[in-house]
Amino acid sequence: MAVPKRRTSKSKKNMRRAHDKIVVSNLSTCSQCKKVKVPHYVCHSCGSYKGRSVIEIEAE
Ligand SMILES: [Zn+2]
Repeated sequence: MAVPKRRTSKSKKNMRRAHDKIVVSNLSTCSQCKKVKVPHYVCHSCGSYKGRSVIEIEAE
């Protein structure tokens, strides 16, 4: 296995990790309750998908 000749500096390490941030960009709103949901997934707050109720959500 190859061994690095030089230790990666803090600056170079941080420059590499500048792109590692988590991006949450793919979010849409539910057509029933207008809450934020993941696209192509059943809404977690009202249980609807494509305008009709798919699963029952129990109220607490
Ligand atoms: Zn909903």
